[in-house]
Amino acid sequence: MRRSMSQRVLVTGGAGFLGSHLCERLLADGHDVLCVDNFYTGTKRNVTHLLEKPLFELMRHDITFPLYVECDRIYNLACPASPIHYQFDPVQTTKTSVHGAINMLGLAKRTRARILQASTSEVYGDPEIHPQTEDYWGRVNPIGPRSCYDEGKRCAETLFFDYQRQHGMDVKVVRIFNTYGPRMHPNDGRVVSNFIVQALRGEPITLYGDGLQTRSFCYVDDLIDAMVRMMGTEKGFYGPVNIGNPGEFTIRELAEKVISLTGSKSKIERKPLPQDDPRQRQPDIALARSKLGWQPKVALDDGLKETVRYFRALLAQ
Ligand code: NAD
Ligand code: UDP
Ligand code: UDP
Repeated sequence: MRRSMSQRVLVTGGAGFLGSHLCERLLADGHDVLCVDNFYTGTKRNVTHLLEKPLFELMRHDITFPLYVECDRIYNLACPASPIHYQFDPVQTTKTSVHGAINMLGLAKRTRARILQASTSEVYGDPEIHPQTEDYWGRVNPIGPRSCYDEGKRCAETLFFDYQRQHGMDVKVVRIFNTYGPRMHPNDGRVVSNFIVQALRGEPITLYGDGLQTRSFCYVDDLIDAMVRMMGTEKGFYGPVNIGNPGEFTIRELAEKVISLTGSKSKIERKPLPQDDPRQRQPDIALARSKLGWQPKVALDDGLKETVRYFRALLAQ
């Protein structure tokens, strides 16, 4: 039964945080998985445990260059995702989103594969409507430090919908809201990994601005489940679909939770708010609920406990 449903699935960015969890899930579902990554922010360590599996293959490749392989499904996740990493080489970030999308769409067109784009809540920028629904067009600065990521991802969405309209392709777009969990990069500057690592090391917790800005945090297992469900929706349903956890917290609340869960003696230290930092963010997931039959199951405290366990082990190495 499983073998007959088995597909050849390409995961770009498969050695990253989300990609490695997705590869694991697809292998568990019986699929043949090709993980493509240039290891810009991802690492072989994230997928070492999968290398022995006969249905798993790892390929070093940069998706800004053409890729000729055979596949039935493509999950396009390749792109640095944290502000520190995507701003380090912003031109490369835009190239990865735009040239990468063109190449993966070209590949999907030739192989007639179904292709899913990992887009982001950043397409909404610093939003004027709250919570964000998929029909909101966003408020994005086109020339600021976050633009390489935001506009790159917006252009990738444009390409997905134009390839669909122009070539009748089978595309899917999900907009991912802040997601956390084991295998986040310890130094990528994202808030959950920063706070946990700082708390475990007894260093000051760096709170940017007044800490009253909000985010909604989704645990990685919930997120992967939604992505797989989206890939399984009927042909003709393209999205975009928001996926994330609507539970909204201020960053100060997050800092306090992390201190209490780790039992740390760290103190909160205020730092300047980065430019264009969105004030609030919360997904409206009504569409995901109805089309994917999905909603997140993992509460923030439970997900944070798992993540703390992961970083504790990592820092002890
Ligand atoms: P990540 O940095 O851990 O993973 C990205 C992966 O892509 C890395 O393994 C990196 O080496 C690889 N990569 C980057 N440029 C590449 C290129 N040109 N060619 C091949 N591989 C390349 O980040 P993540 O959190 O796992 O994010 C995965 C995807 O999900 C990204 O597209 C990101 O924009 C999107 N996303 C993530 C979040 C989140 O909260 N984690 C939120 C919104 C969107
Ligand atoms: N491409 C790829 N793998 C394939 C097919 C295409 O990487 O299997 C790339 C190729 O570089 C091409 C791009 O995808 O430039 C877009 O392909 P498309 O067929 O849309 O356009 P064209 O070939 O006309 O540029
Ligand atoms: N943030 C913070 N301290 C940190 C890292 C981040 O206060 O050490 C804040 C940041 O200013 C933002 C929020 O936490 O308001 C989420 O930041 P992150 O970079 O994780 O994600 P994004 O801004 O892309 O949603």
